[in-house]
Amino acid sequence: MLIFEKSRPGRELSLLPPCDVDEVLPEEKDRRGLALPLPEMSETQLSRHYTELAKKTHGVNDGFYPLGSCTMKYNPKINEDMAALPGFTEIHPLQPAHTVQGCMEVMKLAEKYLCEITGMSRMTFQPAAGAHGEFTGLLLMKAYHISRGDTKRTKIIVPDSAHGTNPASAAMAGYSVVSIPSSKEGCVDIEKLKEAAGDDIAGLMLTNPNTVGLFDKNILEITRIVHDCGGLCYYDGANLNAVMGVVRPGDMGFDVIHLNLHKTFSTPHGGGGPGSGPVGCKENLAEFLPSVLVEGDQELTFVKPANSIGEVKNFYGNFLVVVKALTYILTLGREGLLEASQNAVLNANYMMHKLKDLYTIACNEVCMHEFVMSLADLKKQTGVSAMDIAKGLLDHGIHPPTMYFPLIVEEALMVEPTETESKETLDEAIQVFRELYELAGKDPDSLHEAPVTTPVTRLDEVGAARHPVLRYRPEESGT
Ligand SMILES: *Cc1c(COP(=O)(O)O)cnc(C)c1O
Repeated sequence: MLIFEKSRPGRELSLLPPCDVDEVLPEEKDRRGLALPLPEMSETQLSRHYTELAKKTHGVNDGFYPLGSCTMKYNPKINEDMAALPGFTEIHPLQPAHTVQGCMEVMKLAEKYLCEITGMSRMTFQPAAGAHGEFTGLLLMKAYHISRGDTKRTKIIVPDSAHGTNPASAAMAGYSVVSIPSSKEGCVDIEKLKEAAGDDIAGLMLTNPNTVGLFDKNILEITRIVHDCGGLCYYDGANLNAVMGVVRPGDMGFDVIHLNLHKTFSTPHGGGGPGSGPVGCKENLAEFLPSVLVEGDQELTFVKPANSIGEVKNFYGNFLVVVKALTYILTLGREGLLEASQNAVLNANYMMHKLKDLYTIACNEVCMHEFVMSLADLKKQTGVSAMDIAKGLLDHGIHPPTMYFPLIVEEALMVEPTETESKETLDEAIQVFRELYELAGKDPDSLHEAPVTTPVTRLDEVGAARHPVLRYRPEESGT
């Protein structure tokens, strides 16, 4: 039942203190014609309503959530405590800089540590998420070429094993995309890269580890080839939990990077909550950043560099996500961050190893933080698809892996166990995957019908995409 349907007139819940300043009404022309139909209910009802909704969903706190590339790991609760401190929440973005020096200090420290972790010189926290960071990073690259009068560089090379947002961001930034295929081993095809490299190339965007979960062995050669043709190298560092503390993109020759603080640096995400996709760059690109934090005699302030690409988001970005990331960095420390990456890689390899006698692994090599299985053979033999297995997992309290991605693998399931899962959880999940494989042979129909134990069973996904109902219309409801 929707919250609007539970609403009863007059049962209001007013948590706002009485107004202690004079009320100012907007001008007549700016006022709504109709009263806003907000639901009215008591605090008890409200609390029960959201608890009921929470019980119907699956989150990291309910169970295993191996959604590849999304890093649905446990987010330490201390992050939330820190981000809830009044000094961080009871501020206004238009406050004078000298009154929010503590918050500036947080951003300064976070920038320092993240630059150290990635091998970059400067960083902006403006971008609101990963894809937004990609767009920002590409604009830096574009500004760099244009500032040198090098205007014929209109193309960005994107390997076909890149995250889907990479080509989209390149197109958004006004570039045409040159897609290059992967080699048999699942890495960038070096010969194809050499063919593509030329004086019309603005740069390369590399997702590393790539979407089949592999660290590109030829990484140094890749960045050299791109630099030799005058291009810049962009590192999609959304999944830095595979390499953090082990290697640094800056040392591999990358000029620009974005991070997903809401993945690697532990902020709850996935329900549309705020993210943060900071962009780091080498010194030669810093003059194009939206803003840089500058330490004056008296105070820290944000300054817009002379050749800035301009703001990509209002104010400072999603600041509280930065607070959480800094908390995470400080609680784990240098050794802890390294250990987090090592465990992410260990857990993925453990699961892959325990499944590969049954399931076909897309690239059967040592993987990084995730691995991809192809269910094409299983589908041919039994009619059970990647979708059916994913739905079957739901009946066992496991969130499905990422499905049908990457596109270069047929019937793909992309599994990212993350570093925060115990061996027992991994063993249970392995057991479930194995049982479902067997069930596919014996009783494929039961998998076509799964899930049967969840609050809603198999959804009409085509219907939902073609005829989405996105808005509650009180006039159409019965009450
Ligand atoms: C998640 C992800 C992105 C996009 O990040 P958003 O915050 O969802 O915009 C980009 N690249 C990779 C490799 C990712 O895993």
